[in-house]
Amino acid sequence: MMTKKIAVLPGDGIGPEIVAEAVKVLEKLGTEGLDISLEYGLIGGAAYDETGTPLPEATLTLSKQADAILLGAVGGYKWESLDISVRPEKGLLGIRSELNLFANLRPAILYPQLAGASTLKADVVAGLDLMIVRELTGGIYFGQPRGIRTLENGEKEGFNTLVYRESEINRIGKVAFDIAGKRQGRVCSVDKANVLESTELWRETMTELAKDYSDVELSHMYVDNAAMQLVRAPKQFDVMVTTNMFGDILSDCASMLTGSIGMLPSASLDENSKGMYEPIHGSAPDIAGQNIANPLATILSAAMMLRYTLDEAEMADRIENAVSKVLDDGLRTVDIYSDGTTKVSTSEMGDAVVAAL
Ligand code: NAD
Repeated sequence: MMTKKIAVLPGDGIGPEIVAEAVKVLEKLGTEGLDISLEYGLIGGAAYDETGTPLPEATLTLSKQADAILLGAVGGYKWESLDISVRPEKGLLGIRSELNLFANLRPAILYPQLAGASTLKADVVAGLDLMIVRELTGGIYFGQPRGIRTLENGEKEGFNTLVYRESEINRIGKVAFDIAGKRQGRVCSVDKANVLESTELWRETMTELAKDYSDVELSHMYVDNAAMQLVRAPKQFDVMVTTNMFGDILSDCASMLTGSIGMLPSASLDENSKGMYEPIHGSAPDIAGQNIANPLATILSAAMMLRYTLDEAEMADRIENAVSKVLDDGLRTVDIYSDGTTKVSTSEMGDAVVAAL
């Protein structure tokens, strides 16, 4: 087997602290047969400070050559007044589009040990394990024509275009069906086919694609109902697949079902399952440098990397089980702390996960 190359981009704020803990976990697995090499790159504000750009050429080259990318987070007060073209967030958008990462995977998992952290009743969310697959490079966020124009009567009009080609729907559909095949085997495709022709095509294409996946059951749901069902009975879902804009909204809604932003990983994949893996939270500049951030979202992102890009499902299971074990043991960083549990630092949490592997 060839050594897999991982580009590690810690970024800003708590990024370096949380990435260090995920690296500890990967390095531990490295001593037990996982064949990887790690190479570090600059991104975001940290890259701007050193090189004058949030996405230096060297980082892009490193990321293109790597098999997978592990990212912390970017951004912070320090860079907020910069011109938009060199803001830290530009680095992130740049890498996503340069690498053609069209499939965004956002799991919403609620460990039963943390059910009290949700704003929903514990029995509605305890044990929730849902995966939202969001199309990330098409749809209304990118469709042409777009703009703001002035009409003949002088009134202004804003307009965007919602457009999806069959090939775009097929490739995101395949990702969703493949993932469902490794989970409970159910895909719910979310659209607004009763009103929008582009999603009528979405629905037809998903239905056609389902014929290639006899082991996966496909259902369809309108997006308004899906939003309602997500807060009413979220455990009914296994995998949801949807358009860029619907996915943007539904995935944030789903992540809040769990109530703990420091726990949720994500992946963005290209056509060959190469991916960028990162926590869904930001750089948390308010707590940066204090060794109190929750590293579990980043550690779970590393687990996703093993599962979806490196094909090491067993090692991914081990990480996820280790996280569950430390929660069982009552260890909590401040963001998930409650009475009767044990408060630990970022590095203590990372050490505990390594020990539980
Ligand atoms: P944020 O996610 O950074 O923080 C929101 C709140 O959650 C803060 O109170 C923070 O302390 C807390 N929090 C976040 N992650 C945590 C963790 N792992 N452990 C404990 N607490 C945690 O969002 P924000 O405050 O809106 O944004 C801060 C900066 O991050 C901004 O510059 C923003 O642009 C950037 N941002 C980056 C990304 C990314 O890199 N993918 C995503 C969102 C925001």
